[in-house]
Amino acid sequence: MAKRITILGSTGSIGQSTLDIVRNSLKGMFEVVALTANKNAKLLAEQAIEFNAQYVALSDSSNADILKEMLKGLDVKIGTGPESLIEAASYKTDFCMAAIIGAAGLEPTLAAVNQGINIGLANKECIVTAGDLFTQRVKEKRSKLLPVDSEHNAIFQVLDIERPSGVRRLILTASGGPFRSTPINEMRMVTKESALRHPVWSMGAKISIDSATLMNKGLELIEASYLFNRPSKEIDIIIHPQSIVHSMVEYIDGSILAQLGSPDMRIPIAYSMAWPDRMNAHVDRLDLTAMDNLNFFKPDLNKFPALNLARFALETGGTAPCVINAANEVAVDAFLQDKIEFLDITRLIDGVLGKYSSRADFKTEMSTIEEVISKDNEVRKVATENIKKLI
Ligand code: NAD
Ligand code: MG
Repeated sequence: MAKRITILGSTGSIGQSTLDIVRNSLKGMFEVVALTANKNAKLLAEQAIEFNAQYVALSDSSNADILKEMLKGLDVKIGTGPESLIEAASYKTDFCMAAIIGAAGLEPTLAAVNQGINIGLANKECIVTAGDLFTQRVKEKRSKLLPVDSEHNAIFQVLDIERPSGVRRLILTASGGPFRSTPINEMRMVTKESALRHPVWSMGAKISIDSATLMNKGLELIEASYLFNRPSKEIDIIIHPQSIVHSMVEYIDGSILAQLGSPDMRIPIAYSMAWPDRMNAHVDRLDLTAMDNLNFFKPDLNKFPALNLARFALETGGTAPCVINAANEVAVDAFLQDKIEFLDITRLIDGVLGKYSSRADFKTEMSTIEEVISKDNEVRKVATENIKKLI
């Protein structure tokens, strides 16, 4: 029986790699049911045709005509507007790849969770934003989260979930991004082009900037804490430029278990799609003898303040992770639109966090998803106002 799958964000980097796994898989292994995109109607239509999808959803309806024209006469149902993403996620399937970028993926991903199916979780922002509410819903609906973020996928593979008392700490590795070796006094001058040029991974624009500020690792710290139920002090971050060791778990007897592989997202994607089995991901095999070195360093917290901001948000709890995520999304967007400079990204997040801490607002627990979304919207407005003051 084919595994029926939906891909939320199929036109993005993770979405396209997911379809690449389907393309190279044995015939009859997967059946693509629904695909979604934000704006890229042309690629969405091409994917629907190639993979014979039943339903396509385009969140931003301004390009709906292109989609309708390209799919004219074909047996593909078309949905437009943000609601159509929920409809796509509600199609009866066995697996959903959550690969939308940002908190925009929260509601569609939850719609997939509501089906009690396996979720390939790439969209880290939705777990950072909704935290325990998200993991509680997963438990309630008997859904299963299969982490796709390479670090969390690595930990998922080597963590003894049955015996948590034997675990001392989780060790998240970070490549260090394009500015790992840039002197601190040159960080002010870095350009958008250089920030987008990741030394190891090829990814979408937002996560590439997050990797340059190291906020990506900060968000991953929060993601790891919620996914694996570990406090901040039991999660370390270390720089490993080669991105071969994807993350590790240290046990109380001193053993450290790691997962290694080529830096290719198709490995964790294939793992999540085949779980609990394994499948050929058709990637370059790792040749350890061809490698010069595997290096590990402590991160420079002065140069990359995002790590401290994220740790603060995790340790503060309440609304703080949602606040930091929304402020970061707005700041990265402004940077990508050349409205602010690179160092303004973390400065802006710091400013937004400061505004909230003075109101002791973080301690308010969010008890519904609606409250999470409303907090996310509120912070976006505050951050947008703060950007106007900067420019
Ligand atoms: P991307 O920008 O390449 O693609 C994002 C996808 O989401 C696209 O299909 C786009 O159409 C859709 N989308 C964007 N904004 C939307 C909106 N407002 N509403 C609905 N759909 C929207 O992003 P990506 O690099 O594939 O990353 C996707 C997720 O996976 C992110 O959460 C990222 O952190 C995570 N992730 C990515 C990688 C990677 O290698 N790219 C690695 C680890 C984790
Ligand atoms: Mg990652």
